[in-house]
Amino acid sequence: MPRTNTIRIAPAPVETDLQRVQALLRKQREFFDGGHTLDLNFRKERLRDLQQAIRQHEQELFDAMYTDFHKPEMEAYATEVGFVELELKLTLKNLKNWAKPQRVKESLINFPSRSYIHSDPYGIALIIGPWNYPFQLLLNPLIGAMAAGNCAIVKPSELTPHTSEVVAKMIQNNFDDSYVATVQGGVSTTQHLLQQRFDYIFFTGSTQVGKIVMKAAAEHLTPVTLELGGKSPAIVAQDADLSLAARRIAWGKFLNAGQTCVAPDYLLVHEQVKEELIQLISQYIQNFYGEDPQQSPDYARIVNGRHFNRLSSFLKDGIVRAGGSTDASSRYIAPTLLDQVTWQHPIMQEEIFGPILPVLTFTSLDEAIDMVRQHEKPLALYFFSSDEQKKEQILKHTYFGGGCINDTISHLINPNLPFGGVGHSGMGSYHGQSSFDLFSQQKSVLHRGTWLDLPLRYPPYGNRLPMLRKLFKWL
Ligand code: NAD
Repeated sequence: MPRTNTIRIAPAPVETDLQRVQALLRKQREFFDGGHTLDLNFRKERLRDLQQAIRQHEQELFDAMYTDFHKPEMEAYATEVGFVELELKLTLKNLKNWAKPQRVKESLINFPSRSYIHSDPYGIALIIGPWNYPFQLLLNPLIGAMAAGNCAIVKPSELTPHTSEVVAKMIQNNFDDSYVATVQGGVSTTQHLLQQRFDYIFFTGSTQVGKIVMKAAAEHLTPVTLELGGKSPAIVAQDADLSLAARRIAWGKFLNAGQTCVAPDYLLVHEQVKEELIQLISQYIQNFYGEDPQQSPDYARIVNGRHFNRLSSFLKDGIVRAGGSTDASSRYIAPTLLDQVTWQHPIMQEEIFGPILPVLTFTSLDEAIDMVRQHEKPLALYFFSSDEQKKEQILKHTYFGGGCINDTISHLINPNLPFGGVGHSGMGSYHGQSSFDLFSQQKSVLHRGTWLDLPLRYPPYGNRLPMLRKLFKWL
């Protein structure tokens, strides 16, 4: 499909009514109760169906993401379609192993016995996605939910209607809605969904809506995973490889035009190397996107007018050192470096979620650590240094969901690292086996031998307490 510079305005979402939501839930409940999803072959076949469906819809997905906010095809593949395909491949390869009852060590006090953890599906999972990675952040949790044997209802974001439409079509054409269904709509639809009793809720989005989700879940005591956002710092020490740090920070920040939950939100740089780092990042912006990033095919747009206006207003919060230009008609904001910013400026009061990188400085690592610790625990933290002691100091004294030393974003590419936030940046984590575990209720079962039944535990206890104490000491 030819790429144009014009950007579509998303129409108001068509909401899904309460009756349809309730009817879907009834159907899924009946299907789940039928036990079909307990069969590992069923799960694998459906995951293969999903794999096939994604392959068939790949180009349509690329086109839709471009229409929604000019997501470059390379990024749409690397961070969305290809990323999900990797997760599917890993899950199909390991599912049998993940799903089998895991034997654990015995406690001698139960002799003779064998103990196992069984992974049970919860039932019906609700997966609510955001707009910034509209495919990956809906499909990756869905893979975990399906692998663990759940039914699922997915609610894509209304802010990326073209992508959401392809996802809905893909799911509708490949799955019976009694097993996996898409429900489209905005706030009112999500409210209808949240009023229902699900068995698990997986939400990705803002901290503010995360609180709404958790309150609704509490009503039914439904377990939740919240994948939220926050202000993730990139901290650069004076001994860092500055050129590499600049390149990796610029990439992590301006990927998807800064609309990435784990993008470096702000730069915290040792004051001695600040000027050099600013020069280097400016240079890399030019290397990546050319003299005029608006003409670059590799640079995305802001998702809607509200976010464009919010982000544009931040430009007055400091001195522009690179970028700074905007174009409302195409919702373009140049990759921007903002100097002389303080924590009192509006840009530092909320998650930026756009291509503006404020620069703050520190004079000692303790000061940088204090600054991070005075704010909510971020989803990610990136530290650039060549000094092992400093790395240890940062890791020991800062609290965050996950992160990298000498890189940005890459931690979430390793499926063996559980991905999630802490505190205001979220709870629960997924990817790879963690996704399977997350969507599974771990049922602990002890199988007790019948050939021995010591009388010690049975009343009347008489004077057995000293013997019990001795036994406990010995264990
Ligand atoms: P959002 O919270 O506005 O919306 C997320 C979902 O919630 C959407 O499907 C939307 O329809 C629904 N929603 C919005 N308002 C609602 C309300 N009042 N009641 C009920 N439902 C409502 O988030 P967003 O703008 O789509 O995404 C951006 C946010 O998501 C950022 O904060 C970002 O950091 C975060 N995020 C986190 C991760 C992660 O993995 N931790 C990934 C991507 C984005």
